[in-house]
Amino acid sequence: MVSIYPITREIKLLAGLILLIILSVSCNDTQVVTPIRVVAELDIGESQDIELSNGDMVKIGLLQVDVVRDSLRNAIRSAHVKISVDGKEATIISGNYNLPVTVGKVQIDCPVVKNYSTNSRREIWALEKDARFRLWPGGSPYIAPGTFVYPVRQEWLASMSQSGNEPTYVDWGESVANKEIYYHEGHDIGGAEGLDEILSATAGLVVSANGDTLEGYDDFPGDIRKDVVYIVNDLGWYLRYSHLDSTDPAIKPGTRVKMGQRIGFMGKQGGSGGWVHLHLGISHKETSTGDWGIEDAYPYVWEAYVRQYNPALIAVARPHHLLWTGQEATLDGRKSRSFTGDIISYEWTFCDGTTAEGALQKRTYGKPGEYSEILKVTDSKGNVDYDFTVIQVYDRGDPEKTIPAIQPAYHPSLDIKPGDPVTFLVRTFNTDVGNEVWNFGDGSPQDTVKSETVDRRNFTKGKFAETVHSFSAPGHYVVSVERSDESGLTAIARLHVMVKNY
Ligand SMILES: [Zn+2]
Repeated sequence: MVSIYPITREIKLLAGLILLIILSVSCNDTQVVTPIRVVAELDIGESQDIELSNGDMVKIGLLQVDVVRDSLRNAIRSAHVKISVDGKEATIISGNYNLPVTVGKVQIDCPVVKNYSTNSRREIWALEKDARFRLWPGGSPYIAPGTFVYPVRQEWLASMSQSGNEPTYVDWGESVANKEIYYHEGHDIGGAEGLDEILSATAGLVVSANGDTLEGYDDFPGDIRKDVVYIVNDLGWYLRYSHLDSTDPAIKPGTRVKMGQRIGFMGKQGGSGGWVHLHLGISHKETSTGDWGIEDAYPYVWEAYVRQYNPALIAVARPHHLLWTGQEATLDGRKSRSFTGDIISYEWTFCDGTTAEGALQKRTYGKPGEYSEILKVTDSKGNVDYDFTVIQVYDRGDPEKTIPAIQPAYHPSLDIKPGDPVTFLVRTFNTDVGNEVWNFGDGSPQDTVKSETVDRRNFTKGKFAETVHSFSAPGHYVVSVERSDESGLTAIARLHVMVKNY
C-alpha cells in the first residue's frame, strides 16, 4: 500500500504557506499602526501615570514653566519646563530645535506650552492644559524605522529654517510693530527655487494636490491651494507640503505614494512671504480637544536625516535672535551633536571679525541689520561641521525702521565634488538699492549680483539672483553674501558648502 502520508504532509505544508501569505496580506491591509510616542497634557502642579507604547508605566509631573520673551515684540523665545519623571526632576526646553531628552526610562520633549497662546496669531496646537509632552520609551527611535524619510534631497538645513514655534523671520524680517506672533509650528526648510526636490516623507494617500481634493475628504487642517499637497499616512497624520514651485504630475488626489517619492520642487508659491522653502506641517486630531493639532516634526526629520545620510556630526546654532541695538544675545551651540565621538570645541567667528571659543557666547550689536554668526564644531574624531545664528537687530531709537533681510541658497548641496558647478541663489527684502556680493570663502574674487526688488503684495513674482561657482579643492567652505540698503544697513547670510573627493 502506498502511504499517503508524504502527500498529506505536503498538502499541509502548502496549506500552511497559503494561510501565511493570506494572513500577511490581510495584516498589511488592516494593519493598525500606532506612533511610538504617547502624548500627555498637564497643568502646572499636576502629575499623571502614563503608559508608554512599550507598556511601561511612568509618573510624570509638571512643576514649573518659565518663558523668556524678547523686549521688542514680547514673543516667546524659549520656554523652560521643569518636570519630574518617576520622581526624577529635569528641565527641558520647548521646541526651538531641541530634541527629546532622556529622563529616567523615557525620552521626553515638550512641543508647546500654553503661554504661546497669549500672543499667537492663531490657535494651532489644540492644547488645553499648560504643557504638552511626548514620551518615547528610553532608547527607542522617535518614529518607526522605514516609515519616514527626510523630505528634501538636500544637505541638513542647507539654507534658513523656521521650526519648533520659532517666530517667523526669514523673508521681511520680524516686524517690531506686529505684536501678533506667527510662532512657526511647522518645519520650514529653505532651499533652491525649482531645484531642490521635495520627497514624500511617508507612504500615504494624496488627499489634495494642485488645489483639488479627494472626494470624501473635506476636513483639512489648513487651506487647499495649488501649491499645497496633503498626504495622509498610515498613522492618520496629515502631512502638508507647501509653497511648491511645481507639483509632480504623478501626485494627484487618490494616488498612493511611496515613501521618498518625488512630490515636486521647492518654491515660494502661496503664502510663503517670498522666501523659497518647504513648509512641512504634520496635523492630526489626536488631541485632547478633538480638534486639529500640530505634531512637531523636528525630531522626525532629524532622525530621518541621520538614518539616511549618516552624518558624523551636526552643528546647530539655531534658532535666530531678535534684538534692539545695544541689547545682549546669548548664542548657543549646545544643540549640536556628534554621532561618532564627543564634541571637543565650539569656535565662533563673528561678523566684526573677532572669534571666541565655547558653546555659549554673549553678543551685542551697535548697528541695526541682519547678522549671521559662524559656529564651527569639532568632535573627538576630528569631524567638523558648521551652522549659523541669524540675528536681526533693530534701532531702539527708531523701531519702525526696517532692516534689509536676505535669503541665500545653493544647489546641489549633496555630493559636491571639486570642479562641480554649484548654483548660488539670493534674494534681499526691504531694499531696492545696492547689489548682493558673494564671497565663496575659497580665495576666489567676489561675485556681484542683483536680485529683483521684492514687491510686498506680489512676493511670488521674480526669481532669485543666480550665479554659478565651483570649488577646486575638497573642504568645508563658509560662503557669505551681503547687501546694504539706502541707509547703509547690511544684511549678511552664510552657507556651509562641503566639497568632497568621492
Ligand atoms: Zn512654514
